[in-house]
Amino acid sequence: MKKIIVQKFGGTSVADIEKIKNVARTVIKEKDNGNDVVVVVSAMGHTTDHLVKMAKEINPNPSAREMDMLLSTGECVSIALLTMAIQAAGYKAVSFNAIQIGILTENIHSKARIIDIKTDKLRKNLDNGNIIVVAGFQGVTEDGEITTLGRGGSDTSAVALAAALNAQRCDIYTDVEGVYTTDPRIVPKASRLDVISYEEMLELAHAGANVLHPRSVETAKQYAVPLRVRSSFNIDNEGTLILGVEKMEINKPVAGVASDLSQVRVVVCDIPDTPGEAATLFGSLADENISVDMIIQSYARKAYNTNDIAFTINKEDLPRTMSILDSIKTKLSAGDVKVDDDIAKISIIGAGMIDRPGIASTMFETLAKNNINIRMISTSEIKISCLINKEDAQKALKALHSVFNLEAEESADVKGTLPDED
Ligand code: ASP
Ligand code: MG
Repeated sequence: MKKIIVQKFGGTSVADIEKIKNVARTVIKEKDNGNDVVVVVSAMGHTTDHLVKMAKEINPNPSAREMDMLLSTGECVSIALLTMAIQAAGYKAVSFNAIQIGILTENIHSKARIIDIKTDKLRKNLDNGNIIVVAGFQGVTEDGEITTLGRGGSDTSAVALAAALNAQRCDIYTDVEGVYTTDPRIVPKASRLDVISYEEMLELAHAGANVLHPRSVETAKQYAVPLRVRSSFNIDNEGTLILGVEKMEINKPVAGVASDLSQVRVVVCDIPDTPGEAATLFGSLADENISVDMIIQSYARKAYNTNDIAFTINKEDLPRTMSILDSIKTKLSAGDVKVDDDIAKISIIGAGMIDRPGIASTMFETLAKNNINIRMISTSEIKISCLINKEDAQKALKALHSVFNLEAEESADVKGTLPDED
């Protein structure tokens, strides 16, 4: 049986006709290598943003179902055009949307998870010699409703397809040369990583490095799909390979540094210090599908027998969070709710920090030396995050990148490393 390679091209890679033709050449090259090829594409350029803008101009609060109807159209345009480009070069190709294939998702609009992918149609078409071009980002529920996977979700479509088809590899072609130690636009001496583990990539993705949709990395890890992030415009560069941590040799404690400016901090003051309060609070948020990132509960104030609980969420979820808090306020018998949106989360990530003491203290010392105040701290086995003032984010990123020896000899070519805007 032939090997299957899944290739994914982001919005910038298919932004115009010339670029679509370029993608067709890259696809054909892989086919000429003797492999079966399944291609996943995003919407062209800024199409999705443009569709969102139009929707908001018509209705400031569009229904999630209609948003999915609208946004899923962007990818339908690019699959048809790319397929035509491949056919024009004399190769057999066919495009499919999520409904035609059966990319089944949960019944949640705007951030559905993939539950299952039917492969019969794909296999049949591959066996007939076709290159298959699939619309990323979209799915369908059991009762035929169109869903989307969340912004940037085409990466996840590609990895899920690779897992379902037991593909040899999933190549994510984008407008950056690979995964960097940090954002090269802020730190010009950021260096490209040759390899990184799923675990580290997952933490980097969640910490704000927007190279890959975090769920794509989770799926790749779960099904052990080797993932490669590489540039569509420089296909000779092998990019960054993402693998299981057990397959890697780790020599630096920290692999990357990231900053996330998309969060807000919410503090619920004076919550009674009794069992069940945190469960009520976070249970109510979970019921509404709101993910919480950092959580801190203060040391109980004995005199009043109350705690403050601070947590961070994505900015977009703030209005819904506030209305949930409003509805459970009496049940919690809590005090004021404070919101803080001038914050940045700075994280250092590395599988090499396991069992290596002193990494956290080096981070805190470096921030202190730069006169940066830490407002919240959270840690996992391979990540340390600090919440700081937004205005200090760039300074913190630069200082940490340098103290953990991540600098490249030469500055990165920033032009070639702008992140995918899709
Ligand atoms: N086009 C969608 C977006 O802009 C999905 C993707 O590009 O991955 O979010
Ligand atoms: Mg993307």
